[in-house]
Amino acid sequence: MVNYDDVVLKARNAFASGKTRDVKFRIRQIEAMLKMVDEYEQEMIAALEKDLRRPKQECMIVELDFLRNDLKNILYNINDWVKPERPEKTFVNLLDDVVIYHDPYGVVLVMGAWNYPIQLLLVPVAAAIAAGNCVVLKPSEIAESCSKLMGELVPKYLDNECFPVVCGGIPETTELLKQRFDYIFYTGSTMVGKIVHKAANEHLTPVTLELGGKSPCYIDSTADIEKTVRRVLWGKMINAGQTCIAPDYILCSKETEDKFITEARKVLREWYGDNIKDSPDISRIIHQRAFSRLINLIKSSDVAVGGSSDASERFIEPTILTNVKGTDPVMQEEIFGPILPIVRIENAFEAINFINSREKPLACYVFSKIQKQINLITQNVPAGGFTINDTIMHIGVDSLPFGGIGYSGMGNYHGKFGYDTFTHRKSCLQKNFNALGEFLASGRYPPYSEKKTSILGSLLAKRRPFPKLYFSHILAVGVGVVVTLLVNKYIHDK
Ligand code: NAD
Repeated sequence: MVNYDDVVLKARNAFASGKTRDVKFRIRQIEAMLKMVDEYEQEMIAALEKDLRRPKQECMIVELDFLRNDLKNILYNINDWVKPERPEKTFVNLLDDVVIYHDPYGVVLVMGAWNYPIQLLLVPVAAAIAAGNCVVLKPSEIAESCSKLMGELVPKYLDNECFPVVCGGIPETTELLKQRFDYIFYTGSTMVGKIVHKAANEHLTPVTLELGGKSPCYIDSTADIEKTVRRVLWGKMINAGQTCIAPDYILCSKETEDKFITEARKVLREWYGDNIKDSPDISRIIHQRAFSRLINLIKSSDVAVGGSSDASERFIEPTILTNVKGTDPVMQEEIFGPILPIVRIENAFEAINFINSREKPLACYVFSKIQKQINLITQNVPAGGFTINDTIMHIGVDSLPFGGIGYSGMGNYHGKFGYDTFTHRKSCLQKNFNALGEFLASGRYPPYSEKKTSILGSLLAKRRPFPKLYFSHILAVGVGVVVTLLVNKYIHDK
């Protein structure tokens, strides 16, 4: 086994050398990542095909182009992001400098997941690099070909001292987690998320946990059923349902369920033909254990659509289950496969109660034409994020933070939020030796008195902010001038 003490020490020394503080160095690394994706696109598609039999279009849209856009977004904005912030000052600090510096944490660990094995590893890595950290990369061993490819490519393109790749399974991860990191970013199951959190806690290391759960999809009777079915099935079927924010189950009335099923049969035939297994557009289940788990979930339910499978290829037909109760096995765990149960409910209130009686989901979907119904659910269901009248798509909006809540995770990333995640905001109040400042604050020094307490109290008192008309600045300058004149006069007169 690799000596992890050495790996982390090397990265720590590289961080201490100050290399990653240089924004130009960070930009060169991000550019190198972009070059790596461009030059090895075919190899990445081949590895995704080998691990998941992922169709090329899905490789491009949800993996490689997604990553490219994220890298470009960093390159376009990093020079603005890294600037120290100068927050608004209150009256008491008018003469001071109030600054927030952006500090990298140090050496961070990024652990990827197998279902989107390239982008779920490299998007957080890019954010960590943008923020100036050194990163130990741990690809998921479960996507074997992609993990191997990352182990080969990353050292060719990124600085070897700052960005080591560690491959391996549970024993290696267990050892690696004994190391002290300055930040840990983990994507994967809630069960392993707890293990990571516990290990991080040993060193009080801050974490982001991008976990999973059952993401519900509520459809009311006003929804355009043709479009709804396409959008729900697309969200369920990309990567054969092995997507953390795939719509896990549907909540709707009996009437909507009947319409959904009729339309779903049409759509699935249109998309995949009569012999669905022969379609090149359906990914395979990652491994035999996951395949068997999914088959057991189908066996214990009423199949309305699909239901066939082929163990030799780990193929499962898109399958819709009906007469599903909240207590059924399929409703006890995240499905993570092409199976879509429908739970009947009568109205939005029932849907809210159903969702809120379970762990908080990573994503929630609502299909309705009535804004009041949409608001009712968005305002009363705590979830990592929402897409209304579609599925999955909020993950592609990089001005929205992506992350879970409760058992679906903690922290978030994407776009600037990723940079923020890996940045410590270091506060700095800078004073000078100005006579006026010293005079105003001199009441803090002993000997204390009632008069000093009262003057300090009124100086420090929180004041309602001035209306934002830049009037506050003008007034502050005016007050400053008057005070200066008075003090000068007072000091001279003395
Ligand atoms: P996993 O958590 O089971 O495995 C992830 C990694 O953890 C493995 O590669 C392994 O190295 C390590 N690991 C496993 N067991 C361990 C143990 N006992 N001790 C130490 N390390 C251990 O996750 P997975 O099966 O790869 O991913 C599926 C889950 O991830 C789903 O729940 C899904 O929703 C979630 N997910 C979430 C997101 C997100 O962005 N929120 C994205 C993708 C997947």
